[in-house]
Amino acid sequence: MPYYIRLDDACEKMDVKNWARMEEILDRHRLAPLVGIIPCCEDPKMEQYPADPTFWETVSGWVQKGWVPGLHGYNHVYITKEGGMNPVQKRSEFAGVPLDVQKEKIADGVKVFRERGYEPAVFFAPSHTFDRNTLTALRECSEIRIISDTIADKPYAMDGFTFIPQQSGVVRKLPFDTVTFCYHPNLMQDADFKRLDAFLGENRGLFRNFEAKPTDRKRSLYDLILREIYFLRRIGR
Ligand SMILES: [Zn+2]
Repeated sequence: MPYYIRLDDACEKMDVKNWARMEEILDRHRLAPLVGIIPCCEDPKMEQYPADPTFWETVSGWVQKGWVPGLHGYNHVYITKEGGMNPVQKRSEFAGVPLDVQKEKIADGVKVFRERGYEPAVFFAPSHTFDRNTLTALRECSEIRIISDTIADKPYAMDGFTFIPQQSGVVRKLPFDTVTFCYHPNLMQDADFKRLDAFLGENRGLFRNFEAKPTDRKRSLYDLILREIYFLRRIGR
């Protein structure tokens, strides 16, 4: 405890019908997630959706319900094949990218948020991949000091940032203290929504509204062991 929900890939070009269905489910269970907004989406996979001119009004409605808007990269385009500090995938918009380019991405992304009246407090990169330079860029070009993305038992502080664990893409009982389940509403099928809805129906008590809350707890040996096991299993797959 607690379990959190994170929603990835909100932007002007998204599947508004699927996002509305997700919102309806979370509203019904009175649960507010972390929602990752792509400030300037250029991901070719999102071209299939028409640009929604009311997107930032939708964001405003979410924020009023307690949803926490996070900075989810800048354009969501992969330009390296690196995994960085959290090598969940071998592709990245950030990991392995020169610091000056990363700083520009973060500064430009934050600018889009500020133009709409939001100061992002949380960052997570497309495909979960970032490196030390991403942290430097965030430190120098934003107020963001919280990262949603690490394999660990509980949130921990490192290098001036709070890292909040994100371990799974599907709701289920997991043997971690703090779990973030990451969903991509654009890609969800009917069965995915039904499974989430049913799990929340049975286990709503395990979940909390997402909070951008810093910690000063240090990473424990147990956190590190969980991380090692997770990535060894991924490599073995
Ligand atoms: Zn994404």
